[in-house]
Order: sequence, then structure tokens, then C-alpha cells
Amino acid sequence: MPVCYTTGVTNQSIRPLLRFAPSPTGHLHLGHALSAFENERWAKAAGGRLLLRIEDIDTTRCRPEFVAALLEDLAWLGLPFEPSPRRQSEHFDDYRQALDSLAGMGLLYRSYASRAEIAAAIDRPGHPRDPDGTPLYPRAALARADDPAGRDPAEPFALRLDMTAALAKAGPLAPALSWQEQAAPRGAGSEAIPAAPERWGDVVLARKEFPASYHLAVVVDDALQGITHVVRGRDLYQATGLHRLLQALLGLPEPIYHHHGLLLGPDGEKLSKSARSTSLRALRADGVTPADIKGMAVMG
Ligand code: GLU
Repeated sequence: MPVCYTTGVTNQSIRPLLRFAPSPTGHLHLGHALSAFENERWAKAAGGRLLLRIEDIDTTRCRPEFVAALLEDLAWLGLPFEPSPRRQSEHFDDYRQALDSLAGMGLLYRSYASRAEIAAAIDRPGHPRDPDGTPLYPRAALARADDPAGRDPAEPFALRLDMTAALAKAGPLAPALSWQEQAAPRGAGSEAIPAAPERWGDVVLARKEFPASYHLAVVVDDALQGITHVVRGRDLYQATGLHRLLQALLGLPEPIYHHHGLLLGPDGEKLSKSARSTSLRALRADGVTPADIKGMAVMG
């Protein structure tokens, strides 16, 4: 059955719908609690609903025991998620349809290059990087490696977005593409942030190991679930520019965005799932209560 999207920008008259979307690649920590509580605060203030989405598309890193643990941790925190969270691993067809649609517009290409070939092709000082620090894909240098001619049909490949073609397809929209960043759930206006998706280069939209990337799955899910407000960490701020391009190409609605600050560890880095000290279950085992966690996680 074809996926049916609502087109056009966010309809402010519909009931706000928010989601907290953790990836079960480890145990939830204080940073996740902050994001979940921020979503709860926004949903309450806007009189909206709150969904949980389990972003387990990366089947190489996500584990069922982390899903069970995160459900337990969130129940312990007492967050009012609606029942039956969406699990990305159960919706691969939806991502496939979005990929087919982009492929139909001639915006994807097969990429066979190995990590070693990519590393060799970018091995020069000053090679440009995307906002996450990943070197931009050197398509021209890897044209031979990516040539499907002579490849075994069974050989796995990634699908990359042809950014130049995508910007041309988005046409007059592309230079003006922006997102609405809202500072507070009520009483604050929003600011238009230029999207600048070209900074991401030819991003991977489907990996060799699994059928969609985070960037593709998140825009498809936000649209299919009718999410009106995306409240998430500042680490995803720049990625929103790429998400806006994908939304424009796929004719998906545009949510309002709020990127909250991040809790940093003593080293000044974002908290990590492998650091036991801030994991919610370790804190719980030490006798910390959900109210204490809320106190620790609230943004100043
Ligand atoms: N799954 C992502 C993460 O755990 C969050 C995605 C989002 O909120 O858009 O970092």
C-alpha cells in the first residue's frame, strides 16, 4: 500500500504531537532523561500528546536487551508516553518507499567503495568535513570504485544522496530552505534558521548493513506519525538542515524544532552510553529517585 503523507507546512491548528526517540545502543543516561523530560514539558505546555519511538534501525548496534532496559527506565521515571511505541525495525518498508521515491527522481547512487578506499581518497590536509566532522564523500575520486559495471549483483552497496542533483531538484526552494527553531513551548516566537544542507555532501541514506540511515528514517517517521514539534538535543541541530531538504524532496510536512542544550561530562564532552556513572539504572541502584533525576536533568 502506498505511504500517504500530509503535505504542506505544520498545521498549527492540529493537536501538538511530540516524540522522544532514543536508540537502544546502550543504557539510557541523564542526557536521555533530560530530553525525555523536555519533551514532556513541551507536550504539557502545548496541550499535546507524547509518543515514544524506538530508533533501532541500526541492527548492528541496537540490542533487544537495551530496548527492554529503556522501557523499564522510562516507566520508572514515570513519563506519560502513549502505549505501543513505534519501532523502526518493524517499518523497513516505509523507508524503502521513501528511497524508491528519491531513486525515482534520480537522486540516489550506489556506493560500493570500502572504508579503506574512502580513507585513501580523503587522505589530504583540508579535506572538507560535514557538521559532524565526517569527511565529505569524494565522489569523483571514487567513481571507479563505485562503478556498478563488473560488480557481482550480490555485492552489498550503500545508497548515497547525490547532493548536487538533490539541490537542483529542490530548485528555487533550496537556497531559501530553513527550519523554524522555537525557544520555548509558549510565548516565544520562532526563528528561521538557514538549512544549508549542502554542508552534508553525498550522505548515506541506506547502509550496506541495514536498509535506511538515521537521517532518512527520522524524517519518514516524523511525517508518518504526524509529529508537529521535534524536541531533541543540540547535537542534532545541524542535521535538521539535511532533514529539511529530505522533507522538501519527499513532500513531507515541516515540524517546528527545538534543540535543547546537552548535559556534558567532566571532560566537557556529551554524556556517553558507555559511561556507567550517569546511566539511569546505575543511579537507580544507588538509591537515586525519579524526582532526583528530574532535578539533575532539568535545563537551567
Ligand atoms: N535516535 C536519536 C538519538 O538517540 C535521536 C533522534 C531524534 O530525536 O531525532 O540520538
